[in-house]
Amino acid sequence: MNIILFGPPGAGKGTQAKYLVKKLNGYQISTGDILRDEIKKDTDIGKKIINNMNEGKFVSDQIVNSLLKTHIFDLNKKQKLIFDGYPRSLSQAKNLDSLLNDSNQKIDHIFFLNVNKETIVERIKKRKVLEKRSDDDLDTILKRYDTYIETTRPVLDHYSKNSNFHEIDGTMEIDEITSKIEAFLNV
Ligand code: AMP
Repeated sequence: MNIILFGPPGAGKGTQAKYLVKKLNGYQISTGDILRDEIKKDTDIGKKIINNMNEGKFVSDQIVNSLLKTHIFDLNKKQKLIFDGYPRSLSQAKNLDSLLNDSNQKIDHIFFLNVNKETIVERIKKRKVLEKRSDDDLDTILKRYDTYIETTRPVLDHYSKNSNFHEIDGTMEIDEITSKIEAFLNV
């Protein structure tokens, strides 16, 4: 089963993705984690993206799409992909459609975790204390939220008419969100 977790930064996509990976024996495809890993390993890509990441700006589609492609064509991960943080723009959504088509796969469920701006700011402030992410200061949070509204939220139009699109109130407790997701998945 391939699943997209969609929503603003701080919506809880990563938390639910980790749960679903265990429950479904799947693979979390977090482009944020994949990119942070490039920085940690100080690769050529890592050196190119570090400034954009710290400032909360998007990394170029070319880089993100090429890193993603390896995972999509990995036969071990076929039909077991849990997308978290991708797609983030209409062009990424179209890229994903074509990669899935070329690898004979499809998206089974799309979950939109809908959370308001105030809740996000509170959650990310807490995450900064717990995880010390360099892109979690208030200015950067607000910039990332604006980018979400301008560039990422329009991706909803691409998916929202599908019968496998489900909107969930992302301000609920983690367990409640998980239960809602499980009900749609019948697991
Ligand atoms: P995340 O961990 O999903 O919050 O992502 C952290 C940062 O990684 C974002 O603020 C962007 O700088 C970068 N990033 C993650 N996913 C993408 C993506 N799909 N497209 C472009 N940049 C991304």
